[in-house]
Amino acid sequence: MELNIVNLLDEGKCWEHLRSIRWSEGVYCLYCSSKSVVKNGHVKDHPDVCQYKCTDCKKRFNDKTDTVFSGSHQLLKVWLLLLYFMGLNLSNKQIAQELNLLLKTCQEMSKRLRTQVCCNQEEPILDEEVEIDEVYVVAGHKGQAEKVQAAERQPRRRRLKGARGRGTLANEKPPILGMIKRGGELIMRVLPNVQQKTIKPVITQYIAPNTLIYTDEYNIYDRLEQWGYEHKMVCHSKGEYARDEDGDGFCEVHVNTQEGAWSLLRSWLRPHRGVSQEHLPKYVGFFQFVHNVRKRGKQLLPELFETVLAPKKRNLDDFQPSPLFGV
Ligand SMILES: [Zn+2]
Repeated sequence: MELNIVNLLDEGKCWEHLRSIRWSEGVYCLYCSSKSVVKNGHVKDHPDVCQYKCTDCKKRFNDKTDTVFSGSHQLLKVWLLLLYFMGLNLSNKQIAQELNLLLKTCQEMSKRLRTQVCCNQEEPILDEEVEIDEVYVVAGHKGQAEKVQAAERQPRRRRLKGARGRGTLANEKPPILGMIKRGGELIMRVLPNVQQKTIKPVITQYIAPNTLIYTDEYNIYDRLEQWGYEHKMVCHSKGEYARDEDGDGFCEVHVNTQEGAWSLLRSWLRPHRGVSQEHLPKYVGFFQFVHNVRKRGKQLLPELFETVLAPKKRNLDDFQPSPLFGV
């Protein structure tokens, strides 16, 4: 037998692990929620996947039913390795090579997992001191990989002159709005544009009322006080990057924490040469998750797996700027 990491893993243990998460409070019926469920052998040709029967509604289901793995003929150990490599931030191309998968198969599997991580993650409410900033990512459409890459900051001067240099989905520079609690978690969203009416619902959803918010002088942030926040601005166009406003010798007015997060995002996206507009929101959502759980590598895998199996918290539409095409 070829020495291959997939062959060394025990498929049965992977399913046992899945059951320990999925049925942590006992098996319940997926159709009627009844706890009167009996074991009903195994799924045909899959001795590791348990089947159940509900004694109330008489319906059958199995460990796979209604999970991201249902309808897939790939072994769970392949899915888990793929998830582990995603946590290590390998590209689809690299993962496909490591796992002997077709690139197309790998892309499809990682897309499914990334979607789950986006939609099922617990998202924080930011409070105390929060910085907001935006960047524009050069991203084309599917199949135009060469046009894509790296979050790029618009030069401030150009941006302040008006719409010309500002990114929108329409000109293939979708903006990302970033909000980060100092010393805490972050929220990042790809948006169709950064008009006030677009950013307001995102800001009010994720930032607690009365929070002290720091931004630059860009006028989209002009109404933060009306929206119920304290607001302090640093004036980048005057060459100011941090200001001591309360006179304690500490320059507290800045957005350097969010700037730092942009540079982490930039590095995170780099291996995935050519993330298209269609997929960018999912990559950003995945990055947000990894940042917020503050775990890496082997510590990250259990968090990822639990999130993949967790109930959905929101629709993918919340991550996807709409409409995505033909703006
Ligand atoms: Zn039932």
